[in-house]
Amino acid sequence: MNGTFYITTPIYYVNDVPHIGHAYTTVAADALARYHRMKGHKVFFLTGTDEHGEKVQKTAAVQGITPRELADRVVTRFQGLTPALDITNDDFIRTSEPRHYASVQALFRKSLANGDIYLGEYEGWYCTPDESYWTDLQLVDGKCPECRRPVEKRKEPSYFFRLSKYQKPLLDYYEKNPKFIRPESRRNEVVSFVAGGLNDLSLSRTSLTWGIPVPDNPGHVIYVWYDALTNYITGVGYPDGGPLFDTFWPADVHLVGKDILRFHAVFWPAFLMSAGVAPPLGVFAHGWWTVEGQKMSKSLGNVVDPYEMVRTYGADAFRYFLLREVPFGLDGDFSRKALVHRVNSELANDFGNLINRTLGMLGKYFGGTVPSPGAAEGADLALVSRSREVMAAVDAAMEELEFHKALAASWELVKAANKYVDTSAPWALAKDPARRERLGTVLYNILEAARICVLLSAPFIPAAAQKMWEALGCDGRVDAARLGAAGAWGGLKAGVALPKSAVAFPRIEE
Ligand SMILES: [Zn+2]
Repeated sequence: MNGTFYITTPIYYVNDVPHIGHAYTTVAADALARYHRMKGHKVFFLTGTDEHGEKVQKTAAVQGITPRELADRVVTRFQGLTPALDITNDDFIRTSEPRHYASVQALFRKSLANGDIYLGEYEGWYCTPDESYWTDLQLVDGKCPECRRPVEKRKEPSYFFRLSKYQKPLLDYYEKNPKFIRPESRRNEVVSFVAGGLNDLSLSRTSLTWGIPVPDNPGHVIYVWYDALTNYITGVGYPDGGPLFDTFWPADVHLVGKDILRFHAVFWPAFLMSAGVAPPLGVFAHGWWTVEGQKMSKSLGNVVDPYEMVRTYGADAFRYFLLREVPFGLDGDFSRKALVHRVNSELANDFGNLINRTLGMLGKYFGGTVPSPGAAEGADLALVSRSREVMAAVDAAMEELEFHKALAASWELVKAANKYVDTSAPWALAKDPARRERLGTVLYNILEAARICVLLSAPFIPAAAQKMWEALGCDGRVDAARLGAAGAWGGLKAGVALPKSAVAFPRIEE
């Protein structure tokens, strides 16, 4: 990694309506980007929209506008996720932009020149909504295996990518880079798919106009997946190169839903290898959400709207739930009851109360001014070492994209601090004037543990973390703090006046 970190979400299909799946990938990418910035890494975080293809062309025709006009109109639904969910992406790429046309055509030309792309004829069963051709074997009851809608037979001249040639290079790449595909179970699926043999891939359509033309043969439009995947290099300046490309390519991790893993872990590295560009270092496939125990679908009317979630619960609560509830990589169930329960018990009770009751005691016993700590006793040292262990556990979990473990580890420190309050019993110390220094040390240590919890929670619940950071008298932006320096015990400043309470997580009424 060498101190840099490039992370991407998939580009979202512009004609879709944002739902929990989009929010999930984006929030996960954001938490990772924020965490790596706090480690002091140079981070580039890219998201955007996939705007070409038959569906956009058809929808635009129905509405009597051009595909570009349609894309311009609906792209705001995805661009709006950035402020709504408190996302810190560095760029937002749209595949309809000129920079992307230049990038896709340059990549295509490289493989055309070395013979990996050739002109042939394609025949197959075509599913229009999925923009996919299927073979006889792949059809299920004569219908599209993805969406079960009817397919039509189509034949057209097409450019092909010599994917078959990349079976061995891909298998070698997986072998040499055991963490290229995560989680492990998904890796095994991909390896057996590739080991089973690869067919050359149809790479252009003549039936489509809304897309990027094949260089020197504009009757052909480049296959939407080739176009879409290339966004990851366009975003850092391909084909011109330059400092952004040199610093950040190859990407550290592409976050994807498990349904599009094959495109990212098989086709994409092969396209790049062919063009002499390094493949990405990692692809992580996350799971899917059901909603209140049911499959999410438009017809059931149970699609979770991220904007509604933010209006109802706030961005922090929604972010926290998504990353805490389910191990990243597994499927999970979204339920409002579970969200409210987690927010109330973990954020409002465990974390919020720790800070609030400590600020209350500080106000009562020290007029709100942070005391200097005295000599450390056994319980104090145990809390300090717990804090160090938790920071290490969070770091290990974040390296593996185990967000739920990182949060669980941070909450171990919250629990340890709450227990320290109970066993140190500041209210009892306060009754004995001879123990005033000890009382000051105890309150200092609780606030200090809370400060480190705030630091660790900042990538997940940025707005609440900032509020608590300020309530603890810390300067500047918590997300600009560095985990190494700011995570060292003793960072809380003595002599600073703090408020008597701070409500960062209001309870949600059930
Ligand atoms: Zn289909």
